[in-house]
This record gives sequence, structure tokens and C-alpha cells, in this order.
Amino acid sequence: MIEIPATYESSRERFRASSDSISDRWAGPRFISHSLADSSDLTIDVLSADATCEKQKLLVITTGLHGIEGYVGAGVLQLFIEEYLPRLDHETTGLLFVHPINPYGMKHRTRVNPNSVDLNRNFEEDFESLKPLNSHYESLGHLLNPARPLRHPLYERLAFLWNVLRAMPKGAQHIRETALMGQYRVHNGMYFGGFEPQEETKFIQQVVFGAIKDYAEIVMLDIHTGYGPRWQMTLCNPPSEKMTAEETATRFGVPLVVGVNPEEFYTIHGDMVEYFYKMVTSQYPAKRIYAAAFEFGTYGDSMLDGVRSLRTTVYENTLRWFGGHNIARKWMKHKYDELFMPSDPKWWQKAQADARQAFDGILGAEGYFKARVHR
Ligand SMILES: [Zn+2]
Repeated sequence: MIEIPATYESSRERFRASSDSISDRWAGPRFISHSLADSSDLTIDVLSADATCEKQKLLVITTGLHGIEGYVGAGVLQLFIEEYLPRLDHETTGLLFVHPINPYGMKHRTRVNPNSVDLNRNFEEDFESLKPLNSHYESLGHLLNPARPLRHPLYERLAFLWNVLRAMPKGAQHIRETALMGQYRVHNGMYFGGFEPQEETKFIQQVVFGAIKDYAEIVMLDIHTGYGPRWQMTLCNPPSEKMTAEETATRFGVPLVVGVNPEEFYTIHGDMVEYFYKMVTSQYPAKRIYAAAFEFGTYGDSMLDGVRSLRTTVYENTLRWFGGHNIARKWMKHKYDELFMPSDPKWWQKAQADARQAFDGILGAEGYFKARVHR
């Protein structure tokens, strides 16, 4: 049985041990462990291996871009290694697995890196030009950025509801966009994309650039939690993907696909999957790439779930910057964990079933499985 790991360290141990299952068939797998500049015990671990005969296809699976989401991410990656690795053709397929892109966030159970940057808003180059984006962010400061210690949950529940009602005349869609699209001005705000490319971003860019050069076809899957319906994983196509959501769902035989665009999802900048998709299609037009994020929903996708999820995200940020009441701290720790790594075993069962369905569909359609030998 595959488990969601209990700690960052135990998860890393398990990931490192999986290099044995790669070396069974792939010649000389490579292992890189990049220590963060300010804390050498936090590492981004990369396992990779080249196709043994002809470099045709590359499979990239990345986890923990949003730190705390790396627990479920590591579980899904382990499921892949145990159940799917034996089905790949090592002669033509290369591998690149990352655990986790944001080790600080995984260790400390938060989405952001040590600089409070949301790394999935950080895959950009010209940060100066991003500053004016999301100009309404400050006007919702009372809702999104309460600059004070967190008080007792009884008070905070009412305060948040009151602030949502105050903001409501602007429209639910406006609040949602402003909260989630990312911003590049307020360093202690929500979904802060950074003032410059982060260490983790630069490291992953270097690793992925190095890996893709020799391969004609690439599948890249980035594992996330927290968005979408609770009982169905959402496959998220980057904005530049040419296939529509319907075409993708049909091609891969998965029930729920969205395009990360303002109509179906929300506008975001600095998205990692989009960055690599655009990089490959512009620099290597002859290569074929399918890149997407798996989003395992947790709270759910009703309006009320959206408000609860926003409250948890806002208050976790408030606690990190301004501290707060002990009871509020416990309350938020529980809510935050449930938002990104639900404790219900049934949830994990369904998440694994959805992961299998997507791996089967995507890798089957893209021709990654060994042809069966008929005798
Ligand atoms: Zn995420």
C-alpha cells in the first residue's frame, strides 16, 4: 500500500531509495541533490535516467512546487514508480523525477518558499514589468492581507465573513481573480510572485533544459492539491495548449479537464507548466510536448468551499507574518493541512484511482507503454 508520507525527511528517504527500481532497467540513473543556499538540510532531489538505446521520449514528473502539496505529490510519484515504471520502455524513454521543488515549504507545511514566494507565480523573466499587474490587490487588503496578529477563531470567523460581505459588491469573480492571479508588489501578501527568479526556479529551469534537449517527445506532469472538486482530480492544461479541454478529456479518457485561462480557471502569471510548454514550443518547434498539472481537489468547488479555502490561505499567511492566538494557530494548522493533504483515507484512495486513470490515459495515448509481445 502506498502512503502519503508523514514527514519531509521520510518522504525524501523513500524517494532516494527508489533509484534502485530505476537502475534495474535504466543504465546509470543520475541523482542530484541540490541543497538550498540558506539551509543545507533542505534539498531538491532529482532522479533522472536516459533511454538506453534511442532517446525518443522523456517523462518529467515534478512534485511540491507548492511545498505542502508535496506530501500528496510524493505519494503519487511513489505510485508511479511502483506501478508504472515497469510498463515503460527503457530503451526509448528517459526519466526525470523531482522531489520536491520547494523543500522549505514541504518541511514547514506551507505553499511558499523561504522568501514567501509562490513559486508557481515565479516562472517569469521581466519582474519589473509585472509590478503593475493585479492593480486591485491593495484595494482588497482588508480581506486578503489583515496586517495584525490572528485572534480567537470565534472572532476571526465573523471578521472574515464580514470582510467578504463588504467586498461582495465588487463581485465574486473579481475577488477570486484578485486573490488568486498573483501579485508582484506586496512581499508579505498572498500569491506573491517575487521580485526576481528564486533559487528553486532557476535550479528547475536548469535541470529541465538540460534534460529535454535530446528528446523528440516530452510529457511533463506537475502534481498539485487544493483546487477543484474534492472527489475528482482536475487535469489542468496550460493556457498555450492547443487542445481544448473536451479534446483532451476524449484523447486521454479522463473525466475533468480545464484550460488555465480566465474563462475556465483564472488568470495567472509565472506558471511553471506554461513556462516550459512555451519554452519547448518556441525554441524547439519540431518537438512534441504535452504538459499539464494534476490538481487533486480537497475542500470542494462550491462557492462556500471557495470562501473557506480563501480564509484558510489568508489566515495562514497572517499567522506567518504577524503571529497570533494559540487556539487560532491550532485551528489554522488543521484547516491548512486539510486544504492540501486531507486526512480521510477514502480521499487518498480516490486520489490514487484518479492518478492511475490519468497516467493510463496520457501515457497510453502518447505511446509511452511497452508494446505487448504476442506469442
Ligand atoms: Zn499547487
